[in-house]
Amino acid sequence: MKHIIIGGVAGGATAAARIRRADESAEIILIEKGKYISYANCGLPYYIGGVITDREKLFVQTPTSFSTRFNVDVRIESEVTTINADSRQVTIRRKDGSVYTESYDKLLLSPGSSPVRPPLKGIELEGIFTLRNVEDTDRIKNYINTHKVGSAVVVGAGFIGLEMAENLHHAGARVSIVEMSNQVMAPVDYSIASHVHQHLLQKGVQLHLEQGVEHFERYGNRLKVFFGSGASIDADIVILSIGVRPETALAKASGITIGETGGIKVNEYLETSAKDIYAVGDAIEYPHPLTRKPWLNYLANPANRQGRIVADNMVSGNISQYEGAIGTSIAKVFDLTVASTGLAAKRLKQWGIPYQSSTTHSASHAGYYPDALPLTLKLTFDPSSGKLYGAQCVGYDGVDKRIDQIALLIKNNGTVYDLIKTEHAYAPPFSSAKDPIAIAGYVASNIISGAMPVISWREFQHLDKSNAMVIDVRTRDEFALGTIPGAINIPLDEMRSRLSSIPADKEIILYCAVGLRGYLALRLLTGHGYKNVKNLSGGYKTYSTATAPIVALKPLVLPADKTDMDTQRVEQSIKTVRIDACGLQCPGPIMKVKQAIDSVHDGERIEVIATDAGFSRDAQAWCNTTGNILISNTEDKGKYTVVIEKGSPKAGSAMTSCDRKAKTFIMFSDDLDKALATFVLANGAVATGQKVTIFFTFWGLNVIKKISKPKVQKDLFGKMFGMMLPSHSLKLHLSKMSMFGMGDKMMRHIMKIKGIDSLESLRNQALASGVEFIACQMSMDVMGVKREELLDEVSVGGVATYMERAEDANVNLFI
Ligand SMILES: Cc1cc2nc3c(=O)[nH]c(=O)nc-3n(C[C@H](O)[C@H](O)[C@H](O)COP(=O)(O)OP(=O)(O)OC[C@H]3O[C@@H](n4cnc5c(N)ncnc54)[C@H](O)[C@@H]3O)c2cc1C
Repeated sequence: MKHIIIGGVAGGATAAARIRRADESAEIILIEKGKYISYANCGLPYYIGGVITDREKLFVQTPTSFSTRFNVDVRIESEVTTINADSRQVTIRRKDGSVYTESYDKLLLSPGSSPVRPPLKGIELEGIFTLRNVEDTDRIKNYINTHKVGSAVVVGAGFIGLEMAENLHHAGARVSIVEMSNQVMAPVDYSIASHVHQHLLQKGVQLHLEQGVEHFERYGNRLKVFFGSGASIDADIVILSIGVRPETALAKASGITIGETGGIKVNEYLETSAKDIYAVGDAIEYPHPLTRKPWLNYLANPANRQGRIVADNMVSGNISQYEGAIGTSIAKVFDLTVASTGLAAKRLKQWGIPYQSSTTHSASHAGYYPDALPLTLKLTFDPSSGKLYGAQCVGYDGVDKRIDQIALLIKNNGTVYDLIKTEHAYAPPFSSAKDPIAIAGYVASNIISGAMPVISWREFQHLDKSNAMVIDVRTRDEFALGTIPGAINIPLDEMRSRLSSIPADKEIILYCAVGLRGYLALRLLTGHGYKNVKNLSGGYKTYSTATAPIVALKPLVLPADKTDMDTQRVEQSIKTVRIDACGLQCPGPIMKVKQAIDSVHDGERIEVIATDAGFSRDAQAWCNTTGNILISNTEDKGKYTVVIEKGSPKAGSAMTSCDRKAKTFIMFSDDLDKALATFVLANGAVATGQKVTIFFTFWGLNVIKKISKPKVQKDLFGKMFGMMLPSHSLKLHLSKMSMFGMGDKMMRHIMKIKGIDSLESLRNQALASGVEFIACQMSMDVMGVKREELLDEVSVGGVATYMERAEDANVNLFI
């Protein structure tokens, strides 16, 4: 039997080796377009970043070693250009251009996929690369070694794009990621991706979401990447990772049927529409085991598995069937691991499949054993039978084993109840007696049984809050550190004594840090006859991460006396109490901080190590409100180390209003003239070295809306407000003599001819000079304004944030 295999990497090399194991006498010819076969494409980004140092380690086999071991005729730098299924022949073109034909009995196509390169102006410029194979890798590596690469832009935030971002960062570049959608990692839901967003920002990676690249230009040694919005960023290197497409040109030209998703159509034996021609890997489409809809998988595991199955079928006739893959994938993004299997909520929604989801936050292993790290698990399942549809997991440790266990259950038609039954090996360093997947199973089963009705963070955003009471059941300290605007605080332990303040005729939404105390409060209220109560799924942790603004984190600015070198030397002798708060969920770490700071004297320090990501944000707010000084706040592999120096309590501060130099403005109006006056005043104040904050509330939000806004989903009232209000600053009217817009135009014209900056230019100057823009969260909720509609530099805050700024200011203006 004579077998020809087209493509010599994942699927092709696997099939060739197995054919040999099954049939020692077969003639096997492996034809590969490139120079290399059987290499580790998945390792290429890590070689570029210098994590894998030895290039040779990328090669599982060389053409010679493969040929020797498996007695396979390996023909590299040879491309199959045509297939004639009738005469059972292929045409092959060698690198030197010469062409010949070869006959076959069985043919396998494993040509993979190719990176998408849209026809954008400038895409062929030097310094712009895609990554698919060893040749691309060598090109990129060589460019980095021979050019000064201080900054890099990665276009596309899929798994490979993110791996490249991390590796370019390792290689020393400042990295920006540009992504057309509103999230990184398309296979996971936004709430899971939002953990990755915050982690990338923490690592100093710039995120430009909802930005389509329009064209590229080159200036000397540098590139400029232009967005559709008109903005641009500079780069020394650009990696395009926009996606891949199945490599089907050869199959199509040969009359082989291509399916509706664009992959080669195969039957359960992986045979194409042409007899004795098989296909595997990235190039094929195959029914998804859960939906039976055709599905593309660009993953190494299915390619290898299909290679084995198809080899059996090519040698022995069609004896082995393929069951399909559910898209189980994983990626490392700096210290974080993100994995998913099956169908995410957004995909189920898109396909109109009824589903329910649950989000749980656990620790990677027993909290009392060192180095327990947070792990977030989202399940999707059938709302009545509990059949598992999918799972997504993000964390620092143990993410892979949870997803792998669930993937196996999904492939065997498992339910959320099987998660509870799953036995796992347990000792404190590895897990908890109740493993995160068991906890997820319990929560999901409570949702299905009706014991715990839930509301997702997204449903909560669209909820008509006028007829609902939102109760934060966390402690007062946790509440003070930040909460959902409009929520009232009734700590769980006070709930029984405060039932009279909870109306029975309103919808009650409860939440705590991660969901457990919310559930206990829900059962308590239900036991007292409350009918319409829901728990916010995943608690404040999910809500605050999913709604956190995607803006670069400001570097920590220390008081002047703390930055002096001599002071730093003295600091080494400062008494520092070290506290391990790893494994504790909020409010654990902050409570520990409070206890520890009470036990030290003014000027002494505490160093707290915690694994709760929210702790790093809370520590800053806690210091601001308590008068202690945040000395450093660092993150490494999921551990947050915060050093705080005990300061004088705020209440006892001897600071007078004359010592305070900051200015705050409340921009309540959206009148053009008032907005102009505000920015003129703000720019003047900031120019004299004063800290200036503008708090945009109600109509004032219109002043900071983007001119070209992304499409956002709004409820009915949001849509109505959207229609009635100015959509951005160019539509603002004068408070007087607007005359149906004529006055506004006149004002802008006169300002222009008198050389006065426009409102937009004054606003940009304010931002560039460091004026802080805060949008009022409550006004945004009331008026249906979404974060994505506001300028990227704006942060979102509540009254507490404004009051904190106002306390330090000697001028507070309401405009
Ligand atoms: C940078 C990178 C990182 C990745 N990381 C992961 C990961 O972490 N996890 C994961 O699951 N997957 C990962 N993948 C995807 C995984 O590598 C692919 O899913 C898998 O290799 C697909 O196998 P395949 O056999 O279909 O195609 P490939 O392995 O791509 O092999 C196809 C081969 O066919 C050759 N070929 C095409 N047409 C012809 C022709 N006409 N004649 C001769 N030869 C031809 C090509 O030159 C190519 O070498 C990654 C891919 C890349 C590029």
